[in-house]
Amino acid sequence: MGLKIAIVGAGPAGFYAAEAAVKSFGGSAEVDLIDRLPTPFGLIRAGVAPDHQSIKAVTKRYAATAIASGVRYRGHVMLGRDVSVDELCALYDAVVLSVGAPEDRRLGIEGDDLPGVLGSAAFVGWYNGHPDFADLHVPLDHHGVAVIGNGNVAIDCARVLAKTTAELAASDIAQHALMALESSSVRDVHIIGRRGPHQASFTTKEAGELGHLERARAIVKAGDLPPEAEDAALEPGHRKMVSHLRSFVGGGDPSKPVTINFEFFRRPVAVEGKTRVERLIVETTRLEDGRAVGTGELHAIPCGLVIAAIGYTTPPIAGAAFSDAMGRFVCDEAGRISAGLYASGWARRGPSGTIGTNRPDGFSVIEAIAADFAGGGSEKGGSDKAGGAGLDRLLAERGVRVTDFADWERLDAAETARARPGAPREKIVSVDEMLGLLG
Ligand code: NAP
Repeated sequence: MGLKIAIVGAGPAGFYAAEAAVKSFGGSAEVDLIDRLPTPFGLIRAGVAPDHQSIKAVTKRYAATAIASGVRYRGHVMLGRDVSVDELCALYDAVVLSVGAPEDRRLGIEGDDLPGVLGSAAFVGWYNGHPDFADLHVPLDHHGVAVIGNGNVAIDCARVLAKTTAELAASDIAQHALMALESSSVRDVHIIGRRGPHQASFTTKEAGELGHLERARAIVKAGDLPPEAEDAALEPGHRKMVSHLRSFVGGGDPSKPVTINFEFFRRPVAVEGKTRVERLIVETTRLEDGRAVGTGELHAIPCGLVIAAIGYTTPPIAGAAFSDAMGRFVCDEAGRISAGLYASGWARRGPSGTIGTNRPDGFSVIEAIAADFAGGGSEKGGSDKAGGAGLDRLLAERGVRVTDFADWERLDAAETARARPGAPREKIVSVDEMLGLLG
């Protein structure tokens, strides 16, 4: 009998680990892919921007893994609520935590708890129809929005706020978000970077897209850019990204009513407002050894919404060694947390890299499992474990309504059937509604 493996989290990291297990063990392993939602695919469904549909095509590959021999999808099962890490470790030979980094890092500045301050996980979850954020209040009644951070998530947030609803109609943006954006008063989006254009972690395509929006124009201040000759030292991809930023100097077509303002060398110091966000206070910075150092010069950016796109953390879970400082599990290079317990994806290395970066991650964690159990599960007593049958028994005793991949296929068909004309799907944004539909 083969190894029994539980992979918790059915996002890219979980699916690549499952794919690697299928390839590595040739179908002899039993692999349970567990997720807290009835819907699989994690960040592909709820993180990747709705207007970036081509990236979402990778779900076809994941679906092939989900129906591969030995693999089962176990949805609507939440680690820590329905089953513990210790229980999974008792049931399976190897448990892989691929739970991602779903929580926002706090800004940690005065006023960051005012209504109107949101983390990007919440804002992105809202427009992507994640059940946790479907009811989020997103104030779009002010002309200004400040998006803090110079990564691709900040660009995604700014672009969704700046696009017309016609530009978003063919995406799978949730209907509630599309309706809210339809009546949005937002006209000036500010992307706040505490360092400069050379230090920004935008990628080329994402930066370039801002130059081709229907009603919005991107603006970079000439004085924020280093002399062009200094671009030569940059890696070619990054140089191309910076060339897009250079093309935004001058501000583009002034007839476009919405502005996306890159505010480089500004660090957020406070959010102010009587009962809700009215302005973001930023301090001008300069670089010292690559670090942003405040100069004492303050500016106010009028806004009714602040979105902190400054990174994510993995929540700790009983039974798995965790580092508060790193915001993720403590593991070795291969993802080993402790005997039989592993991590992969953002839960292992932190929130960085593209979807594809999780592939080698998934394969290396399965290599580690294969090495740790070399000689077969039986030598380590692995095949004596109850595996998926044991999990099913435990969850049935606890009255958990577990969903499988066929259930997802029914939800998928229902979402596709109710899509707006031209859109790929209209997401069901309530878990109760999903379960009701499944009966
Ligand atoms: P990121 O690329 O790590 O960017 C985080 C940004 O937040 C950095 O600019 C960082 O500045 C800034 N920051 C951190 N703490 C701050 C603070 N206290 N005050 C002000 N600024 C602060 O992270 P991300 O944008 O969340 O993206 C996560 C990963 O997903 C990245 O690898 C990204 O490329 C990927 N992603 C890819 C796509 C795509 O390919 N289309 C889309 C979305 C996300 P410093 O650099 O100064 O620390």
